[in-house]
Amino acid sequence: MSDRFTVPFLDLEAHHAPLRAEFMRVIGDVVDAGAFAGGSFVSRFEEEFARFCGVGHAIGVGSGTDALWLALLALGIGPGDEVITVPMTFFATAEAISRTGATPVFVDITEPDATMDVAALEQVVTSRTRAIMPVHLFGQMAAMPQILDFADRHGLFVVEDAAQAHGATCHGRRAGSMGDAGCFSFFPGKNLGAFGEAGAVVTRDAGIAAHIRKLRDHGQSAKYRHDLIGWNCRMDGIQAAVLSVKLRHLDSNNSLRRQYARSYDKEFSRIPGIVLPATTPGNKHVHHLYVVRVADRATFMEDLSKRGVGTAIHYPVPVHLQPAYAEMGLGPGSFPIAERCAAEFVSLPMYPELTKAQIEHVIQAVFEAMESEAVPA
Ligand SMILES: *Cc1c(COP(=O)(O)O)cnc(C)c1O
Repeated sequence: MSDRFTVPFLDLEAHHAPLRAEFMRVIGDVVDAGAFAGGSFVSRFEEEFARFCGVGHAIGVGSGTDALWLALLALGIGPGDEVITVPMTFFATAEAISRTGATPVFVDITEPDATMDVAALEQVVTSRTRAIMPVHLFGQMAAMPQILDFADRHGLFVVEDAAQAHGATCHGRRAGSMGDAGCFSFFPGKNLGAFGEAGAVVTRDAGIAAHIRKLRDHGQSAKYRHDLIGWNCRMDGIQAAVLSVKLRHLDSNNSLRRQYARSYDKEFSRIPGIVLPATTPGNKHVHHLYVVRVADRATFMEDLSKRGVGTAIHYPVPVHLQPAYAEMGLGPGSFPIAERCAAEFVSLPMYPELTKAQIEHVIQAVFEAMESEAVPA
């Protein structure tokens, strides 16, 4: 357990400890098989993850960022095209669009779900729009039925950024399975995390899957036969072996996250100064992050830190206000909800290994930090 915090923001050591012997054994298997880049461990994980997501195909790649980029490339998106996404996300969502040569076009998010404002799509769609890239932020799926309906009416692709939503569902359908492609990150801190960098694209479409398989491996259809210009975006065998072990625990870990979120919700609903995360009816949230909104964030975070509770900010600067996108000329005020969330969001500790005592400690600390605002029970 890390240093000065009674409840660290994240505790990967506690996450890995119970399975350490199994991890060491499967890493040994990869070494013995010499299956380091791609290979049988990657194919096995791909089959397992495709089944988990309820789709026919999963393609293991080097990172979530690779997954987003390759999915767009496989759909033929490039220079001159526009892709609609949100500014309240990790930078990679928009970056992947820009990397293809296309232009990201932003719409605001809605509250309290913090996902894409579907009503705003009509205002930004143009003859150059080719795709919509909703982000299943913090572990809850965006309004997929409405987004798919809009995409259908305008002939657009839908690429899901599901990097925070492994196992989430919308009307029973898993994140990644509803759009033309779904993109996952297995960065160590995600709900399903590798021992380094890894990602995957999932899709129902065999043609898209075959295209991404080529793109991730130098455009090869067979050894030294290069059909197109790709890149090296392969998944490592060791990452795949570790992910196969962890995937078996993902659903039960997500259930624990939901249970802990309910404890937080129940207690914090008595504090009027805190805006809580909300689950849209029909959605099953997997609480990658438990994010609240408070007016005086700096003081709140400092008070929690003094009480031994680690916190973080996701994300302090919305993408349209990043220096890299300054040339778009989208100044402050362009997306008011995303901007207010960027100023007031705070992420509290949320992981399956939290103990009952730690959850109680977080709740107590939040009440103390918000003392002047709490309503007596
Ligand atoms: C983590 C993340 C990514 C990028 O994934 P990497 O594996 O770090 O490249 C993309 N989008 C979102 C929403 C993420 O949270």
